[in-house]
Amino acid sequence: MHDVTATATAPDLFDAERSALAAARAVFDAGPQQPAADCHQALGELMGAFDRLLRETRRLVRRSDRSELEMNRLNQRLQDLAAELEYRATHDPLTGVLNRAAIIDMANRHFVSHDLSLVVLDIDHFKRVNDSFGHPTGDQVILGVVDCLKHLVPAGAQVGRVGGEEFTIVLPGWPLERAAQTAQLVRRAIEGRAFGLPDGSRITASFGVSWLARGGSFDLAYCAADEALYAAKRGGRNQVARAGLPAAEPSPASSA
Ligand code: GH3
Ligand code: MG
Ligand code: MG
Repeated sequence: MHDVTATATAPDLFDAERSALAAARAVFDAGPQQPAADCHQALGELMGAFDRLLRETRRLVRRSDRSELEMNRLNQRLQDLAAELEYRATHDPLTGVLNRAAIIDMANRHFVSHDLSLVVLDIDHFKRVNDSFGHPTGDQVILGVVDCLKHLVPAGAQVGRVGGEEFTIVLPGWPLERAAQTAQLVRRAIEGRAFGLPDGSRITASFGVSWLARGGSFDLAYCAADEALYAAKRGGRNQVARAGLPAAEPSPASSA
């Protein structure tokens, strides 16, 4: 109520122009016989008002252009922040690969329409790296492993960090055997990579590979791959183990 009153009594920006127009209209409406001095004065006021109107309009257009620019800038900043937030919510800050929640979501979405192979890898004896050379060196090893993954994981596949030094590769539509071959390539790349550890020691990783038909879930696929991974650990590490196929399928060898 208070605001409405304030608005009603606020001076109009164009009061001066309106009164100059009213004066000119009065002279005009009185007919062509008006004294020249009255016409001259009304025209003078009208010119002044028109001039001010032009200046005011120009000022408003400039202000509106500035506001539009500022709004576009803020809009762009908002979009950048939203993209950054989305990136941070879905990516692992150390390695830049998908985080656990994002890779689970991705795998479950793929399962709606595809069968899917899942590879889980865990770096062997990683605690030794941290304990012997410190956490930053451990981080460098993790980054080296991710570098191997990035170079060898095919288009259409996704890499995610599911735990400290545990990664998963989601391969939509890939049969188990092809996924196991990719795991072998990554295993060899890690084994052959010079990580530059102070004692010259090598890094290896163990792999579990599972396959599930369309309609499966990350949890089921992960459980199967994780079991295979621990078979690989028990079998001596630095190896790839396949999970047992569903009963209808012939069971492959358990390790490569
Ligand atoms: P195993 O061969 O059985 O896998 O032995 P392991 O020593 O690798 O054992 P495990 O996989 O349980 O070790 C995980 C270690 O990884 C423990 C944890 O301190 C370390 N870790 C987890 N996240 C990070 C990280 O971001 N950076 C570093 N440097 N270490 C991490
Ligand atoms: Mg681990
Ligand atoms: Mg480990």
